[in-house]
Amino acid sequence: MGRVLFRVEMKCPKCQRPVDHEAESCYSCGYSELEAAARYGSNRVQLSRVHDAAACLRKQEKDELGDVLDQLEVKFPQMLFCAYLGALPPNLSMSELGFWLLNHGQVKGAEYARPNENAILLILDMNTKQIGVSLGYFTESLITEEEAYRALLHARPNLINAEYGEALERIFLRLSRILRKKGRRLRRKSHRELQEKSRALYGKVLDLPPHLTPELGKEEQQPAQLRSA
Ligand SMILES: [Zn+2]
Repeated sequence: MGRVLFRVEMKCPKCQRPVDHEAESCYSCGYSELEAAARYGSNRVQLSRVHDAAACLRKQEKDELGDVLDQLEVKFPQMLFCAYLGALPPNLSMSELGFWLLNHGQVKGAEYARPNENAILLILDMNTKQIGVSLGYFTESLITEEEAYRALLHARPNLINAEYGEALERIFLRLSRILRKKGRRLRRKSHRELQEKSRALYGKVLDLPPHLTPELGKEEQQPAQLRSA
């Protein structure tokens, strides 16, 4: 089993230096989505949720992995969990492929509900026996490099035993635990924000009567004026 490789989108897929994802191209080497499109095509490609181009998953493995992904999709209706298993040509790195797939791939059934920005894409290269993960821009904000790396390491025993389906399951489940924790933290935060908002609203409600009273007074006066006219 080879080394376990890891990358995130925030690094340039070519030179691996950090990149601001708002930037059109890498400041260090100039790599851009345009260059990737020129090299690998600008077309959109249809992908299966588990795209086994290397045909290395057994039917049972595929079914079990499918069940796990079904459960994760229920728990995280906005997240896109997907995997690409292939024998990559030597001139194509996993990070470049991940970058390209997140820009050009469309996972069947995910269309609008699960955009690529919310993707966790695992890539297994059967040639180099490496595994990597590409995160969409949104997912990047939820899962750190360190966390994703540890999730990959977690599946090492399975990868050594060529249990690829189980390896992918483990990594997805591990990452979903991180998502759940982050989700709880986000909910707590928004609960606090809601409380602060309602306090602010309450403050305004207390302010209202003095303003309302003169308004009501005016309305009460109007019928009298009409009568007198
Ligand atoms: Zn670069």
